[in-house]
Amino acid sequence: MTDYPHMLAPLDLGFTTLKNRVLMGSMHTNLEETGDWKRVAEFYAARARGGVALMVTGGIAPNREGGVFPGAAGLFSDKDVENHRQVTDRVHAAGGKIAMQILHAGRYAYGPECVAPSPVKSPISPFPPKELDEEGIEKQISDIVATALRAREAGYDGVEIMGSEGYFINQFLVTHTNKRTDRWGGSYENRMRLPIEIVRRTREAVGSDFILIYRLSMIDLIPNGSTFDEVVQLARAVEAAGATLLNTGIGWHEARIPTIATSVPRRAFAWVTKKLMGQVGLPIITSNRINMPDVAEAVLAEGCADMVSMARPFLADPEFVNKARAGRADRIAPCIACNQACLDHTFGGKLTSCLVNPRACHETELVLTPAEAPKSVAVVGAGPAGLSTAITAAERGHAVTLFDRADQVGGQLNMAKQVPGKEEFWGLVDWFETMAKDTGVTLMLGTEVGADDLADFDEVIVATGVIPRDPEIPGQNGENVLGYIDVLRHARPVGANVAVVGAGGIGFDVSEYLVHQGESATENLPEWMREWGVTDPEEVRGGLAPEGPQPEPPARAVTLLQRKAEKPGKRLGKTTGWIHRAALQMKNVQMKAGVNYERIDDEGLHISYGEARERPEVIACDTVVLCAGQVSERSLADALQTRGVSCHVIGGADVAAELDAKRAIDQGVRLASAL
Ligand code: NAP
Ligand code: SF4
Repeated sequence: MTDYPHMLAPLDLGFTTLKNRVLMGSMHTNLEETGDWKRVAEFYAARARGGVALMVTGGIAPNREGGVFPGAAGLFSDKDVENHRQVTDRVHAAGGKIAMQILHAGRYAYGPECVAPSPVKSPISPFPPKELDEEGIEKQISDIVATALRAREAGYDGVEIMGSEGYFINQFLVTHTNKRTDRWGGSYENRMRLPIEIVRRTREAVGSDFILIYRLSMIDLIPNGSTFDEVVQLARAVEAAGATLLNTGIGWHEARIPTIATSVPRRAFAWVTKKLMGQVGLPIITSNRINMPDVAEAVLAEGCADMVSMARPFLADPEFVNKARAGRADRIAPCIACNQACLDHTFGGKLTSCLVNPRACHETELVLTPAEAPKSVAVVGAGPAGLSTAITAAERGHAVTLFDRADQVGGQLNMAKQVPGKEEFWGLVDWFETMAKDTGVTLMLGTEVGADDLADFDEVIVATGVIPRDPEIPGQNGENVLGYIDVLRHARPVGANVAVVGAGGIGFDVSEYLVHQGESATENLPEWMREWGVTDPEEVRGGLAPEGPQPEPPARAVTLLQRKAEKPGKRLGKTTGWIHRAALQMKNVQMKAGVNYERIDDEGLHISYGEARERPEVIACDTVVLCAGQVSERSLADALQTRGVSCHVIGGADVAAELDAKRAIDQGVRLASAL
């Protein structure tokens, strides 16, 4: 008996059977571009061993002009086929199945050769696309079909044709980007000719016993996107043309609605997929913000889809399905949808990994082996750095004692989880606690240790974290001034008008916390949809509410300040910074950059601008909250050094600047792998 009967039920595709209803969705990891195919193969093989039924690779370009960026991975030569065969062989040996995604980026291609139905430049690329002529369109189709054939030759079980997210095929479907008047434009029949031709000719080429997934944009979230009738029409036509499975795409990349970030409610778009259920005969896959087995099970049990796609959760934990099957869902490392080590890396041209699992995409390099000589290990500080060290060291067989003066594990994560939109951090802290207990870490909470207490351990790890930086503003000791810890940890009362000093990650978080009241929109889907202006695509093309975003009024008037003369929030996550900025703008948060803090008094915060301290101004407020960054808490490290006890200093205690959980966890796991 399992808690997830729907999720673990097999799916018969006629010529082959998927062992459960879980698809690992396509992720562009930049692994293929390393040229290290053993590493690529191990990444997928690990997920196949973990029990997922079917995986989809990152997007593979059908030709040079369709690559997401110049040099993007393709399947052009016999050598490429040989490389990919290493992946498919390893996956099959592990009992898995894998389909290759064919991704033609069209006007989203980041290069001067990009092509599109019409010369309409994308707002997210500097390159205007060339309009394709009839011959050019034929070339794109035959390149895609040829790539599918080569995928079959390389041993893949199928292909996914990327028809959503605003890429090439999607660009033909809507008048927003298709201004043609020939047989590829104009009427919807003409605009959908491209996907139909691609699916039909691909099916003809690859034969009937090859999985053909079509990823269909079910809600474009752009002006003049598809209507839902068009979505249904396309789905039926794609089925008739020979697709095996329909996968859900949500939103174009240029949409200004968050679709996968942590503040998006779980399973926020399953209702869109559900609208298509019963309209076609082939199995339908849903996706977006499904990150735990109970969420997947509920989506399937409620008939929203036949299968669920999860992508990032398989970076966080390759063993997702096995653990669910074994009744140990609480051991699944949760994807908190932060994008910090995955999408932010991908878009930064770096190799993808995962904040909670630094081994993701580093499987062949960061190898955890049983300790040769088990040692007694003391870890001081149960924040992300200390926890990840303790758990990894204990997994390897060391005897680990984890000390923290607080009576709960999690350190700064416990403040993050108070912030509306960051509810996923609750699960992360719970997981750390479960794993610490599970791996046999001796937890000594509510225990302050000094250098004397640690002398007898073989290894001492100092992960004592950070303390707030003192911004030294005259008047900051007044009763109207609080630190972020007072607000987020101790829930101290805050007035109706607030000035937040420091617009880093924590300044943004505190502002978000202060402008909200009541239930977080992340926990209330209808409210979240209202807040961002999302509606039913059956009512409005593309699913954008005509009245636009309708946020709840802010709970407080907040002014967020920084000294740097740059756009506040510029250094936040590459793929999520815009969401934080937009969310605060919707709540009328005033942002001021290039300021000097002159003093704080009963009137509020006195500021001036620039080096010449011009334009004096008072931010009239009841409360000033200091979020001026952090410095390392090194008192224990220093005391140990004085006593001659050697120790490893990690996380914020090591370097406070730009500390985040990603760096802390990565450093912790790497240290523990070498103890
Ligand atoms: P931070 O990102 O380094 O920001 C510190 C802020 O304080 C900056 O706005 C800085 O801007 C200001 N500041 C620095 N020295 C100051 C001084 N002496 N007086 C007044 N202001 C000063 O640090 P944080 O906000 O504490 O966040 C810590 C880390 O947590 C971040 O690095 C971040 O990665 C992580 N975090 C991330 C998120 C996220 O959303 N991804 C959320 C929370 C935390 P000026 O110097 O221009 O004034
Ligand atoms: Fe999920 Fe964050 Fe890991 Fe990406 S980095 S997989 S979003 S937890």
